[in-house]
Amino acid sequence: MFEYAPAPESRDVVDLKSSYGLFINGEFVDGSGTPFKTVNPATEETLAEVATASSDDVDRAVQAARKAFGVWSALPGAERAKYLFRIARIIQERARELAVLESLDNGKPIRESRDVDVPLVAAHFFYYAGWADKLEYAGFGGAKPLGVAGQVIPWNFPLLMLAWKIAPALACGNTVVLKPAETTPLTALLFADICRQADLPPGVVNIVTGAGETGAAVVAHPDVNKVAFTGSTEVGRIIARTVAGTGKKLTLELGGKAANIVFDDAAVDQAVEGIVNGIFFNQGHVCCAGSRLLVQESIQEELLAALKRRLGTLRLGDPLDKNTDIGAINSAEQLAKIRRLSDLGESEGAERWSPACELPGKGFWFPPTLFTGVAQSHSIAREEIFGPVLSVLTFRTPAEAVEKANNTPYGLSAGVWTEKGSRILWMADRLRAGVVWANTFNKFDPASPFGGFKESGFGREGGRHGLEAYLEV
Ligand code: NDP
Repeated sequence: MFEYAPAPESRDVVDLKSSYGLFINGEFVDGSGTPFKTVNPATEETLAEVATASSDDVDRAVQAARKAFGVWSALPGAERAKYLFRIARIIQERARELAVLESLDNGKPIRESRDVDVPLVAAHFFYYAGWADKLEYAGFGGAKPLGVAGQVIPWNFPLLMLAWKIAPALACGNTVVLKPAETTPLTALLFADICRQADLPPGVVNIVTGAGETGAAVVAHPDVNKVAFTGSTEVGRIIARTVAGTGKKLTLELGGKAANIVFDDAAVDQAVEGIVNGIFFNQGHVCCAGSRLLVQESIQEELLAALKRRLGTLRLGDPLDKNTDIGAINSAEQLAKIRRLSDLGESEGAERWSPACELPGKGFWFPPTLFTGVAQSHSIAREEIFGPVLSVLTFRTPAEAVEKANNTPYGLSAGVWTEKGSRILWMADRLRAGVVWANTFNKFDPASPFGGFKESGFGREGGRHGLEAYLEV
């Protein structure tokens, strides 16, 4: 591999403050909990101090959202659409600032935050702006919003998960209280500034930062009508228990352990790109990541040789360098989890391989890793690692591929690589997964619904289906 000269994106476009407050009723205000620090995972440098919302602060935010609900839900859909279009356009105008801040706070490569996350965020707002005046035609029986939505999101796609939650909620006439993840609060706070710039009525969007307790306070608040959560299955279970019997509407988007299935007639080079995109995109911090490669036995050797060659060309390092393919792991805790599960993979008998890859001295890093000789009983074939670690299994027949792919408590996504259209349809029919990609992987579009089966959660986000979660049906 030849060397590239460094091509760093400038940080100057971001006006980083030393401390940030909560965004309640259109104002930035102090939080009454103990503030926390958010760090750049690539350098461990503290980026800013961020307020913690106590349950009293959450209560203020919910009250503001309740008051704003009267005004917002009474606006004609076409008027709400204007605000959403305005927000979408400002996101495009401030795209570079958002992308740099996202990469700083999350550790993801600027190539991804700039070319994937932020354009999809704008697209989501454009898409749902288009729905705001057409809700009666969505097929859910009417256009009545639910009220106040309490939304809790994770750290892997901070701004994109915010868009998935806020855009449909607002389009349908709801108001929101959103809690970003503790390790990645900064782009949500920049989004709050965008709401002000767009003259969104105060209280329609409220952002409360903090740790898990803040999220728990949002979910448990009696005046919240709808809870939307994306995160771990474990916390999803806690939330389902809290919400049970309250009459609150709930959607959960949880973990995954997706199979990426490659048949012997697949175009190998294309499949290799899809495998890389499936598990090494966003350092593998992707709920629908193709973390289990199921390869047909007859092409295993050829495919793995090509895959290893390709992994040798991935560039790991400074997320703000435009040539970087693999950035930093989001936190020390997540790195410890990836290390623990990878070590377990080895001790349970799988064979570990990584390309020669120098890791920076500071920050949280993990090399792209693949495991061969993986059995279905191994922890690395069953548990979500949420890191750049691929477990390789083999199969002989399509029926065996389906059995193995479905042998998981999750069911969020799957990928199928084959020349044969009929086989794609046959597989898609049998795979218990919310999304099945054919000859591609990790493709997202605001018009396409996304969500899981089994322990991957319930409810759909995106597309016409995504409106259902925010309307009285
Ligand atoms: P969590 O599910 O704990 O975090 C998701 C969000 O929920 C965060 O905003 C978190 O706050 C908040 N939260 C935590 N506890 C509660 C609670 N009791 N009530 C309400 N909200 C709560 O994920 P982690 O960040 O701890 O990651 C753990 C594992 O989960 C990862 O290793 C990964 O395997 C998986 N994961 C899966 C995701 C997916 O998209 N499927 C996304 C993220 C993680 P805070 O940030 O302060 O903890």
